[in-house]
Amino acid sequence: MDIHLLGTGGADGIPALFSGSRVSVHARNAGGKDVRSRASALVDGHIKLDFGPDTWHQVTREGLDPREWTSVLFTHSDPDHLALEELQYALFPFNESEFSEFTIFGNEVIERKVFERYPNWPFEFVRTKMFCPLKHAEYTITPLMARHMQYEEAHNYLVSDGEKTLLYGTDTGVWQDPTWEYLAGHRVDCLVLECSEGFVLTPYNGHLDIDEFRYMVNRLRKLGVIDDTTTILTTHHSHNGDATHDELCRELEPHGVTIGYDGLKVEF
Ligand SMILES: [Zn+2]
Repeated sequence: MDIHLLGTGGADGIPALFSGSRVSVHARNAGGKDVRSRASALVDGHIKLDFGPDTWHQVTREGLDPREWTSVLFTHSDPDHLALEELQYALFPFNESEFSEFTIFGNEVIERKVFERYPNWPFEFVRTKMFCPLKHAEYTITPLMARHMQYEEAHNYLVSDGEKTLLYGTDTGVWQDPTWEYLAGHRVDCLVLECSEGFVLTPYNGHLDIDEFRYMVNRLRKLGVIDDTTTILTTHHSHNGDATHDELCRELEPHGVTIGYDGLKVEF
């Protein structure tokens, strides 16, 4: 399998639109890996994770053709992950009408929002439920419980092709018991995990700072979910985490973690 990180920024991206934060100013000057669009990824070239406001920019930058996508998996409905208005470009009259369909996987909030905006949404919609595996072509897709939201089921995802398994955890916070219990006995080949709050340690538990990130990775190692052969990537970095790309590399690379950046593609 492979994963292509299309966006690795938090809700406001880096540089954040109206921000003069140290990291935003640095990103404007340095460019490159410090510029982070809103979090999204593509698995095996056709399973799209989230559909945020930077989708057009990401597919154009990476030379991708969204007509090849077979599915869009939504993690939750926050606007950096669900750009509802952008979905209209999948429909007539914005294309030649012989569009290729993609299945949407999403929770009940996503379902309500999509069908309120598009009452005649023509493609398959599959409602996701925590810990209930779904089949999609040769893949098994399992929504895990993130801690990110109080009033909506925010998902992390296990995506397996039968041989290899990806765990995609953006907007997660430190998991609660049901997720740890579910993961015990599973093994993943690639872990993509948020580090939104970077060096700024806060009591907020809907996102991970660097200490919480290390805690998650260590606990996953102890459980046997990941090992030395697992590829570990970061994503969903906020400028408020006060961490540049190089600073994150110095902190986490010695622990076998690759700091994600927009455009990074990894085979596992
Ligand atoms: Zn987010």
